[in-house]
Amino acid sequence: MLGMTAVTLVAILTTGYIALWAAGDSLRVQREAMAATLAASVSRSVAADWASHGQGTAADKRASLRSVLRSLHESTGAIGLSVLDMDRGEIASWPPRRDGDRDAIVLSTALAGGPPVVNYRQEPHGRETELLAYAPIEVAGQLSGAVRVTIAAAEPTQAVLRRSGWVLLLLAIADALLVLGLGLFVLTQLVVRPLGQLRRATAAMAAGDLEPRIPEDGPKEFAALASAFNQMTVSLAVQREQIIRTEKLASVGQLAAGVAHEIGNPLAAILGYIDILRADAAGKGELPPAERQDTLDRVKAETQRIHRIIRELLEFSRPSHEEPVATDARRVVQSAQALLAPQSRFRDVRLVLAGGESWPRVLVSPGRLAQVLVNLLLNAADAMAGKGTIVVTCEEAEGKVVLTIADEGPGVTPENQRKIFDPFFTTKVVGQGTGLGLSVSRSIVESFGGTLEIAPFVEGQGAKFVLTLPRGEGAWRCS
Ligand code: ADP
Repeated sequence: MLGMTAVTLVAILTTGYIALWAAGDSLRVQREAMAATLAASVSRSVAADWASHGQGTAADKRASLRSVLRSLHESTGAIGLSVLDMDRGEIASWPPRRDGDRDAIVLSTALAGGPPVVNYRQEPHGRETELLAYAPIEVAGQLSGAVRVTIAAAEPTQAVLRRSGWVLLLLAIADALLVLGLGLFVLTQLVVRPLGQLRRATAAMAAGDLEPRIPEDGPKEFAALASAFNQMTVSLAVQREQIIRTEKLASVGQLAAGVAHEIGNPLAAILGYIDILRADAAGKGELPPAERQDTLDRVKAETQRIHRIIRELLEFSRPSHEEPVATDARRVVQSAQALLAPQSRFRDVRLVLAGGESWPRVLVSPGRLAQVLVNLLLNAADAMAGKGTIVVTCEEAEGKVVLTIADEGPGVTPENQRKIFDPFFTTKVVGQGTGLGLSVSRSIVESFGGTLEIAPFVEGQGAKFVLTLPRGEGAWRCS
């Protein structure tokens, strides 16, 4: 806006001064023409006076000339009128001359005949300039001398120009202020305000608000931009949901393979028990009642085991609500543990929950946190090749709850640490890893306002993932 104001100011001043200069120039030309006309008319009067005193004495001629000049001086308003002879000597002047003639060249031109000539002369002690006009005097077709008419050159031209200059300057300043004020108002309303909304929305997105909306009003272009932004956030949110779901289904797939394997044993046992009972029924009840009861109890226990495993898997695979609620993190770790326990790759893995019996509550979506933990625990079990201890600890730090998941695997090298949170980065063989687990887990945790990091690599210490989560509201400790 300041730039625009400066440009306006410069533009108005430049055009204004050019216009003033042109006006001043034309005034000057007019004034010169007027002086020349005046000189010509004075010359005619003097010639007429000389002609009427053809045979008079020089003193008579001079006295008559003076009275002619005097009356012309009164009627024309000139500063001075003089009559000069062919030798440039002054014959008569009105008012009486004040200084010598310094216009020798111009005077010679006039004495050579032809149209009047003009020249400017600076007053010895003043700023004002005088305009001198010379016209030859012809008496009976013969050049007999010249008249000099002196008028003020500056007035009124320069005074008018000076006044106009000030008006121009004031106008330019007023215009510049108008441009500045109006421009600022228009710019703020039409550009700055919508841009501010866009900036706040993008900042909110960066801070984890995944669907900020901007009002779709204001100028057409900004309304279109706001609408495009709103559509983009909606479609980003949908895509994000799809990626989270895809990754979850990949985990479900892995778990389902383990489950299928796991329920094979109880199913085989159930079939065995059913065969025993059928044989018993065919042989009309040879089994003692207690043994029959025991066989039926075993069938029930095995069926319940299968039921539990499948229920947990179904529970996990259900789409979970995203709304964060105060959640018992320990219970979520335990449910992940229950889900993973039947997996053959977890058979030789020990999961230790450190940090006491009661953990602080965290403000998360329990289903989503379970997805993150299942992913971290599966990765840990894979890194340890299904054998070792995973320690999950919980502590409070700086108003946040910090969960760490440490395993006894080879750890993640500093070079890979930079890449593991990138989507599709995996070191697993094709079909075993999507490379989405950690990137999706991080985006889930960030949507709660938390962070997911990996601790710096220490040779021989395994990998340690650090989950920082916001504390749940209300009671900090769960009972
Ligand atoms: P995926 O498990 O499908 O490969 P992730 O994003 O979950 O995808 O993991 C990316 C990569 O990070 C893994 O392929 C593995 O190389 C590395 N990684 C993850 N967790 C661990 C861990 N606990 N120990 C060693 N490496 C790990």
